[in-house]
Amino acid sequence: MASAGGKIYIVEHLDEELGPWSELEYIAIAQESHDAGAKFCLSSLAAAFKVPGALRAVPSFTPEPRSVEEIYADNKARVCLLDPAAARDLSPEDGDTFDVFLFGGILGDDPPRDRTSELRKKGFEGRRLGPVQMTTDTAVRVTRMVVEGKSLSLPAITSTIPVAEVPYLDFPEIRFNEHECTEMPFRYVKGDDGKPIMPKGMVELIGKDADKAIDDLF
Ligand code: SAM
Repeated sequence: MASAGGKIYIVEHLDEELGPWSELEYIAIAQESHDAGAKFCLSSLAAAFKVPGALRAVPSFTPEPRSVEEIYADNKARVCLLDPAAARDLSPEDGDTFDVFLFGGILGDDPPRDRTSELRKKGFEGRRLGPVQMTTDTAVRVTRMVVEGKSLSLPAITSTIPVAEVPYLDFPEIRFNEHECTEMPFRYVKGDDGKPIMPKGMVELIGKDADKAIDDLF
């Protein structure tokens, strides 16, 4: 895969199936990458993996059966793994060193199980995005702000920015109605409206899952 100037964001899909949360996250990553002139690739897809229509519809999205290790076997130095356990934080200068940014296609878990280690052991150079676990779409969004200085959700960001200067919201409370709310155990980018930036449909999905959890108690 060649990059014609723009960055390539790759999520190596590490879960067995495609859950509804990951589906919404991947669609958001694909659309935001496309709108920013970048490419998004979902790698390591099993033959039985069904690419959702909304993802397939994004022209710069590539579904890829090969693993990132196979795709970049001769070009490993181009790839930066976003790794919560890396010794150095990502910096704007990393945008000059790397043109491929790799993320674990893993749902966030609390406490984190360090499944990013599956990619770390393949030997890619790692960078951290600060000390707090982000959702995968947030991690891609923050990486784009740091190395490309682009954010469609925060139009005021027009040049590259250090990881620590991105506006964040940690562990936000999502309220569904007057009586119900839930705390999300992740870091998000704070939108201009003061709310966490999340994929379209995510708040509704979280609400449905919360209702189901309550129903399951009875
Ligand atoms: N609990 C997870 C684990 O087992 O590693 C973290 C998964 S996180 C939801 C999905 C991906 O987002 C990670 O594999 C990593 O690429 C990226 N990510 C999330 N937070 C990060 C951080 N603070 N620094 C670097 N990368 C991060």
